[in-house]
Amino acid sequence: MTIKYDYHLHSDLSGDSETPSFQMAERALELGLSGICFTEHHDPDHPDYGIDFTLDFDTYFQKMKQLTARYQGRLELYTGMEFGIMKHLPPVLDELLRKYPFDFIIASLHFVNGKDPYYADYFEGRPERSCYEEFLQAEYETLKCFPPESFDTLGHMDFVVRYGPNRNRFYSYEAYADYIDPILRYLIEKGKCLEVNAAGFKYGLEQPNPCTGVLRRYRELGGELITIGSDAHEPAYLGYAFDRTAALLQELGFRYYTVFKKRRPVTVPF
Ligand SMILES: [Zn+2]
Ligand SMILES: [Zn+2]
Repeated sequence: MTIKYDYHLHSDLSGDSETPSFQMAERALELGLSGICFTEHHDPDHPDYGIDFTLDFDTYFQKMKQLTARYQGRLELYTGMEFGIMKHLPPVLDELLRKYPFDFIIASLHFVNGKDPYYADYFEGRPERSCYEEFLQAEYETLKCFPPESFDTLGHMDFVVRYGPNRNRFYSYEAYADYIDPILRYLIEKGKCLEVNAAGFKYGLEQPNPCTGVLRRYRELGGELITIGSDAHEPAYLGYAFDRTAALLQELGFRYYTVFKKRRPVTVPF
């Protein structure tokens, strides 16, 4: 496998996964990965859809310590968090960063105006296009509220297209350029990474999130920094479609990807 690190995955410490973390580590060994980063969900103040997306940090770090000892010399394990961004949450993230020794932080927008695009009611009663626009606009505006040093990468930038009635059929960089460009330019200007979330393949989009045209545009604008993750919630999806993802990224002109250790970027060539 060309991609040696999976930097977006969940275990049963995330509200929507039932996989004990050691099973992810075992699967990583099977796949021949060099390292993985457990980026558990933490979405403070999330709307109530019946799943608790807040992380028990003490348990998490305790578990990571045990796992690290268990896999010493066999698999690199890193600590991370997928933080659900909302405009009022920068102080919450700041406090967590002071308190806990994370390797890596993904900033992800999961909820827009109190609704989760994962559920159909987000799309009810309005055109798909305005839902996608609203999501991208909110993502840009919310991300800008966070000090750039508080996160390392923007997670699954256009993942809203996984759930729209027509998915990505009418979605392209060109069609949403006015909403996409500000986000890409902002990341480049601030030296932040764009995440290539391979789960788009799992959702049948035939491409990662963000989609191919967006990645091409990012490269065109001078964007080079990317992180890569499968967003697996179970072992079967760890490193899923990494071969196709690597082929696509190389075709688009990306020569390396970035992993983080103690919040410091390390580049890894394909
Ligand atoms: Zn996410
Ligand atoms: Zn995730």
